[in-house]
Amino acid sequence: MNEQSATPDDPAESSPLTAKVAKVAKDTWRSWGRNLTVTPAAIVRPENTDQVEQVLRDAAAQGLRVRPAGSGQSFSPLVPTSDVVLDATALTGLSSIDVEKQQATFFGGTTIQQISQILEDHGLALGNMPDFTGQTIAGAIATGTHGTGLGQPSLAEQIIDITIATPSGELITCSETSHPEILRAARVHLGVLGVIVSVTIQCVSAFRLHCAEFREPLARLVDSLPERMSGADHFEFFWMPGRHTAHTRILSRLHRLPDTYTRPASPFSRVLRRADDAVLRTSLTSGLGRLASVAPKTVPGLNKLESMSKSSRRYTDVSYRVFTAPRAVRFVSTEYAMPLENTAAAFRDLEALVDRKGYTLSFPVLVRCSPPEQGYLSPSADRYTGWISLRQYGKRPYEEFFRDAEQIFLEHGGRPHWGSIHTQTAETLKPMYPHWDDFLKVRSNLDPNGLLLNDHTRSLLGV
Ligand SMILES: Cc1cc2nc3c(=O)[nH]c(=O)nc-3n(C[C@H](O)[C@H](O)[C@H](O)COP(=O)(O)OP(=O)(O)OC[C@H]3O[C@@H](n4cnc5c(N)ncnc54)[C@H](O)[C@@H]3O)c2cc1C
Repeated sequence: MNEQSATPDDPAESSPLTAKVAKVAKDTWRSWGRNLTVTPAAIVRPENTDQVEQVLRDAAAQGLRVRPAGSGQSFSPLVPTSDVVLDATALTGLSSIDVEKQQATFFGGTTIQQISQILEDHGLALGNMPDFTGQTIAGAIATGTHGTGLGQPSLAEQIIDITIATPSGELITCSETSHPEILRAARVHLGVLGVIVSVTIQCVSAFRLHCAEFREPLARLVDSLPERMSGADHFEFFWMPGRHTAHTRILSRLHRLPDTYTRPASPFSRVLRRADDAVLRTSLTSGLGRLASVAPKTVPGLNKLESMSKSSRRYTDVSYRVFTAPRAVRFVSTEYAMPLENTAAAFRDLEALVDRKGYTLSFPVLVRCSPPEQGYLSPSADRYTGWISLRQYGKRPYEEFFRDAEQIFLEHGGRPHWGSIHTQTAETLKPMYPHWDDFLKVRSNLDPNGLLLNDHTRSLLGV
């Protein structure tokens, strides 16, 4: 994290709100998926804790609300505000590391990519992670960002302490022994408890992942879904609506084998694999998405072509290079967390919906799983979870399909991914979460005046 303050030349110098804080040159905030845009009163980019506290103080003094932002990779309007967007991406880097205990503290704006590379340099790794590395750690845990694997906790569960700059001017570090109730709230915090300045992660020894990808009949896979999910370290499958096959990925952890058996991919084979991802898989998806947006009738044929581009392959590499893939093509997404035992039934209902209504997507539906979590607002709170995610090319219609799919997920006991597109409000969310009131209590203690709320978080929380 850069400890430098803004210089007298800063454009912020003229703003009473941000006199000591770098103001971002652009005046419009845009989400990664391009589905959310806002021009707030100010966008500020503090570079250290003092500057974060300064923004919170100045905003409070002027009656302005503040919304923290990470990489803008959420699809739900958690960030947009007409007042102040606090871009937290300059709070970045490693703060401290204890290699023996395998614990590392990162500033909140550090991305998953940066964290993975820094940990690799120290012989460490994240135990599990999402399928993309652009998110900041504070933003990722805010929404319960997860990967896949019933035995491997998501990012929020890998956190052992969190330091928060609160609207009331305190700097609180919460852990299992100090303010444990704040830690449970902050594991999935929606950006409404304070600005996350840093987090300490319980890491694991660096490990390799072996990946097996193959195509298989969909019906047989869905019939055996719970066994398939529990039988692999990390299991996921992709399905192009309308097709009768699935593309399965099984990731196996190899850290117990010596290096001679688990050598990571050579730079050359890695380049070939990434080229396969980028040129064949991603570019094809992008090209087909564009074509489909101008000629929707071609979609079933295009999807067949897209499915065929995902051939079988096997490879081994450093964990984060296998967990994640580049995402060159922008999309919007909805995702729901079902009780594990209801996931297959929910998926079959989704298939029937597609058959009935002929809905199409430019990206495959993605099905993953995760273990029970402690975060009060974790969509996996207290239960094994199967996730179903729909992703649509940003320029193609998605609203009706997402709304109908949401109805199915709700009927199967689903909870929405906080960062994805959904229509739930406090009235429907409260009964889904056993610790709902505990979260609200922590929030109102840390931010009694609602400095950090926008319209969306007010409607989510009913405050
Ligand atoms: C290409 C792509 C792939 C994805 N893959 C996955 C996946 O595999 N699994 C999954 O679960 N999700 C996935 N997502 C969703 C994504 O992980 C979440 O939406 C995540 O929250 C985005 O993090 P961010 O840094 O962009 O935060 P933002 O979207 O900018 O913000 C998210 C929330 O965090 C808060 N926030 C951000 N920084 C701070 C801070 N320093 N202090 C306090 N609050 C803060 C914001 O106020 C907001 O409430 C994906 C999204 C994309 C675009």
